[in-house]
Amino acid sequence: MVQRKPRYLKYMNTIQTESVLKENAPLFIPIGTLEAHGRHLPISTDTICAEKIAEKLCIEVGGVIAPPIEYGLTNVFLQTAPGSFFPEDVFKSYVEHIVRNFRKHGFKTIIIVNGHGGNRDSLKQIIRTIPREEAIALSVINWWILAEKYVERVYGCKPGGHAAVEETAAMLNFYPTLVSPAKYSPNIDDYVPEESLWMYPPPGEVLLQEEGEGRPSFDSDKAEMFMSLVISDLSTKIKRWLNSFNRIKGSLRP
Ligand SMILES: [Zn+2]
Repeated sequence: MVQRKPRYLKYMNTIQTESVLKENAPLFIPIGTLEAHGRHLPISTDTICAEKIAEKLCIEVGGVIAPPIEYGLTNVFLQTAPGSFFPEDVFKSYVEHIVRNFRKHGFKTIIIVNGHGGNRDSLKQIIRTIPREEAIALSVINWWILAEKYVERVYGCKPGGHAAVEETAAMLNFYPTLVSPAKYSPNIDDYVPEESLWMYPPPGEVLLQEEGEGRPSFDSDKAEMFMSLVISDLSTKIKRWLNSFNRIKGSLRP
């Protein structure tokens, strides 16, 4: 079988976009944010991961990738590196309009690949609103949450969190030249947030759920194994979802 190539909407002309619409291809919208990710990962880590995961899924299940939304709702790390933040309703409305515009143009299946925790509340509202009004199949992937269940198997530890083992694995696998292992120092970078003590900015940007668990790892082989488990899990689930529309006799209706 010939391997599919990822297709990017932004590089297509109108003739090509028409043919994509004709084949009813799912549209992937990567969304991240601009936010400090410790000293070993770049500030666009969330967007880069979302884009690369969309690319992998596009190869596995077919479809086309929309230009990413690079500016999201950064909150706790706004002070330590350039970040993006808007009033939440502005952001929600912006993303909602983007999704609705694509639907108007004929994309009936839209998969938002989210790379940032702070975007989740807005995306949850969007996925609950649009399908009530439009004939659309809409999905939101929060990839790092799905990835947590593979941490123990590959790394023999508990999941980490922000800028920790999961995101470091993704960046190491997708974009190794943007990872700086020598810059990571657990004593300076690790921090376990506590409900009893809120600190803005937090004293470290590698947020762990438990002391010493889920720390960044710079093992490329493990990163590859980890990400292929994540991609294969996601693509199995997305394929099932796409095929499930066949059980609906008419077409999707709001
Ligand atoms: Zn992140």
